[in-house]
Amino acid sequence: MLSVLDIFRIGIGPSSSHTVGPMRIGRRFVRALDKAGLLGRTARVHVELQGSLALTGVGHGSLDASILGLAGFRPETTLPDEAAAALAAIRESGRLRLGGGDHEIGFVAARDIALAGHIMPALHPNGMRIAAFDESGAPLIERTYFSTGGGFVASEAQLRSPPKDDRIDTGVVVPHDFGSGAELLAACERSGLSIAELVLANEDSFRPRERTLDGLDRIAAAMDQCIDRGLTQRGILPGGLKVHRRAPDLWDKLEANPQSNEREQLFDWLNCYAMAVNEENAAGGRVVTAPTNGAAGVIPAVIRFYCTGEGAGRCEDKRRIFLLTAGAIGMLYKQRASISGAEMGCQGEVGVACSMAAGGLAALWGGTPEQIASAAEIGMEHNLGLTCDPVGGLVQVPCIERNAIGAVKAVNAARLAMHRQGAETFVSLDQVIETMRQTGLDMSSKYKETSQGGLAVNVIEC
Ligand code: SF4
Repeated sequence: MLSVLDIFRIGIGPSSSHTVGPMRIGRRFVRALDKAGLLGRTARVHVELQGSLALTGVGHGSLDASILGLAGFRPETTLPDEAAAALAAIRESGRLRLGGGDHEIGFVAARDIALAGHIMPALHPNGMRIAAFDESGAPLIERTYFSTGGGFVASEAQLRSPPKDDRIDTGVVVPHDFGSGAELLAACERSGLSIAELVLANEDSFRPRERTLDGLDRIAAAMDQCIDRGLTQRGILPGGLKVHRRAPDLWDKLEANPQSNEREQLFDWLNCYAMAVNEENAAGGRVVTAPTNGAAGVIPAVIRFYCTGEGAGRCEDKRRIFLLTAGAIGMLYKQRASISGAEMGCQGEVGVACSMAAGGLAALWGGTPEQIASAAEIGMEHNLGLTCDPVGGLVQVPCIERNAIGAVKAVNAARLAMHRQGAETFVSLDQVIETMRQTGLDMSSKYKETSQGGLAVNVIEC
């Protein structure tokens, strides 16, 4: 069973699969070297980014992330400015301290990182092969890892023996185990608990209750801080597309007229918050994977709009309910399908975020477990087939606006579910998750985070 704190993780932009994942992999490789007693003998490390990691890796920051990982940086604790300074120092000196320790090697990205977009690994399209060599050039160890979306990483062996019954085995036994939407609803029925209460009870098997609540509050705070920063940063986003940040201007307009009777103002607020997050993400800022970095704006936008303004204590409770419920839905997608754009297209990123946000909002509105599952189902049903075709390989166009649209769509999905009469739904959450999985498998690789089709080839970069 996964933990809800596995689904929401604090990291740096612009991509959980292409930035956070490679960073973790770099650290993991250095740990493997150390464990094998080979760290001191290592004179050179070579990284090969394969498949989607190579095809969109430059725009998604995968090269820098790989270097930071080898240098021992953790995505959870690295500040963007700190990362930039470390990268500049490595570039200037051509030297890198493995794992941040005493052992230094020569490292030049142009020589030591290869982009192998022609290799599309069968196990997962985000492959990363790392090899270490001694002073004489003799190989020491070589490992292949995969960045499987949302910052999750897996070894070759882990992907070759997938979990049974769609359950990721974390070795933790929980009181209310569930591997499908149907099992989740049955567990709620059996226990008389809401989805949020049931997930919280499960989390007690991972750590003491206070630490879970603290973790949830830290996630909510990181989401809020990201919005706040995104609302004040102006200018052009990095990467060469010359995309302007739009959230601050929209914020100014809304702030100038907060009590406007315009019926569409709800859209403006959600758009503003979601774009603030994704503009920060595009700039390499600190975001929460929800469930990925590319889709990081949907959930914070909905939480910010619906969980503020009624006293601090109350807001805290609402945010916890939202995150626990949305987290349960995210776990289902992670375990039964995938949250990787390179495997599923954008339906697996913004589509999943929309589904999670719709479920979280239905929970806030007092929805039954069935209504929450229905909201999550609707949130995905109308994102099925959504492709990933980022222009210039950057997480900017269509990603930033797509999060805004995803947030608005999530609210509508929750509304539709709350108005639903009776428990019966035409399409179940499990059916829509399986449909997303099959659609992702059928989707051409051109539309799965390779920037080889769609907007990426039809929009001329200038
Ligand atoms: S199009 Fe969607 S899946 Fe692709 S990079 Fe952008 S947000 Fe991620």
